[in-house]
Amino acid sequence: MNNRQIILAQRPVGLVDSSTTELVETPRPVCGPDEALIKVGTLSIDPTIRTWMNDAPGYMVPIGIGDVIRSGGVGVVVESKTPHYHAGDVVSGVTNWQEWVLASRENKFTIIPKGLGLDVATVMNVLGTTGITAYFGLLDVGKFKSGDVVVVSGAGGATGSVVGQIAKARGAKRVVGIAGGAEKCAEVVKFYGFDECLDYREENLSRRLRTACPDGIDIYFDNVGGEILDAALANIAMRGRIVVCGAISQYNAMEQPRGVANTSMLIVKRARMEGFLVFDYAPRFLDAQMELAGMVHNGSLVHHEHLVHGLEKAPDALNLLFSGGNHGKTLVVVDETVQLG
Ligand code: NAP
Repeated sequence: MNNRQIILAQRPVGLVDSSTTELVETPRPVCGPDEALIKVGTLSIDPTIRTWMNDAPGYMVPIGIGDVIRSGGVGVVVESKTPHYHAGDVVSGVTNWQEWVLASRENKFTIIPKGLGLDVATVMNVLGTTGITAYFGLLDVGKFKSGDVVVVSGAGGATGSVVGQIAKARGAKRVVGIAGGAEKCAEVVKFYGFDECLDYREENLSRRLRTACPDGIDIYFDNVGGEILDAALANIAMRGRIVVCGAISQYNAMEQPRGVANTSMLIVKRARMEGFLVFDYAPRFLDAQMELAGMVHNGSLVHHEHLVHGLEKAPDALNLLFSGGNHGKTLVVVDETVQLG
């Protein structure tokens, strides 16, 4: 039996296109001692995958030309020669863009507990990297406190939608989203329950932020960087916090990133701007996951998964993140039979 894989054929300039990746077939990996064979079910499509395609310094080594595209995912153990996994375990970890993967000492997977009462897609969204990023970014990096005015960019996406809902549930004075287009903004307010959402594609975002947050922004949760970050900086409150989570507006232009102009507001407002990586919080992931699962069960956290079917569609799914064509958490279903029992 073969393993279909998507490899990096050529480094992209701008968006990924048909010359960037190639679908290849190799023999299915064979389970050796201390290993487990995993059938991949669903892939997590994350903006950072695009940054790993660049030959540039980052928090992980770039994906090599000819290598399978690196990606998180969920699968099921079909054969195990290690006591760590048993056939039938549903596991999450680095699956990459392929149909089969080996768990080994170098590539460890986490067993998803049974009885969560949530399906695979929900677990990958709310209890996955983006949900946990929202949790620690807002609470630890942003030092959220009840009564804060919170502004979140990428508000209709996986991370942003969870940030706003945690802030609402914990007593924010006001939660304002920023998203692209009237339809997405309406979704952010009506479905995710934000107080307001501003369309960044319309003119003068900075002035509209001032109207929406007349006393200034206590926490700006930045998923996008660029001009939107500057507009938020211009409106930061005294002792405000800017959580630098992502800079998706810059990921396709890493050779010439746009500079940030309004940093003097950090001085004027004695404000703080701090970046973080969710992986630094790994020892506390379970705390976040338990609270987030509780919020889903008690109805204070709603979620939406944007499912794209077929391994070969993974590059298109990645581009959706940059066009804003995704709604909620973007996932690629490789094998829909892989489900939690
Ligand atoms: P997502 O929000 O589900 O999807 C990305 C969204 O970004 C799109 O839906 C689009 O929304 C918006 N976008 C794309 N290009 C834009 C631009 N030029 N200007 C403004 N908005 C733009 O993605 P996600 O997985 O949750 O990731 C969100 C951010 O968090 C990314 O920057 C990611 O790298 C970062 N992140 C960081 C960590 C960490 O550890 N620091 C962990 C996970 C994710 P619109 O339709 O509104 O344009």
